[in-house]
Amino acid sequence: MHCPHCRSADTAVIDSRLSEEGRAVRRRRECTSCQHRFTTFERQELSSLIVVKRDGTREPYSRPKIERGVWIACTKRPVTQAQIDKLLSTLEEKWSANKQEVPSSTIGEDVMRELKTIDQVAYIRFASVHREFKDVEEFKEELGKLFK
Ligand SMILES: [Zn+2]
Repeated sequence: MHCPHCRSADTAVIDSRLSEEGRAVRRRRECTSCQHRFTTFERQELSSLIVVKRDGTREPYSRPKIERGVWIACTKRPVTQAQIDKLLSTLEEKWSANKQEVPSSTIGEDVMRELKTIDQVAYIRFASVHREFKDVEEFKEELGKLFK
């Protein structure tokens, strides 16, 4: 692990603890050259999980890809990285529990449902991007709830 500040390859772990309810290991590291401190996360790789897209094609599951979509919905909202990490880790556990494949529509619906409990505006944005509303009326109804 190179230091992100000076690129030195010589860094030391100064603290190591479980995070995300035991699904990840969080490490505090210190660069031995410039003393810069940074954090790394170690997570179980979900390389076996395959996403089945709407057109029937398949691709390997990519957490960064899902996370980007969630962050776009959360732009300028009071949502933290920790909340999103927890949301994705919980759902990944569900998706990879019994099966090797998960439909992209399931991913969209699950993220949407969890996002609804975190931030209503982010939820509406995410849902509208993923066109999960059945019709315009349903979309208006959800929007209306925000401005009550
Ligand atoms: Zn350094």
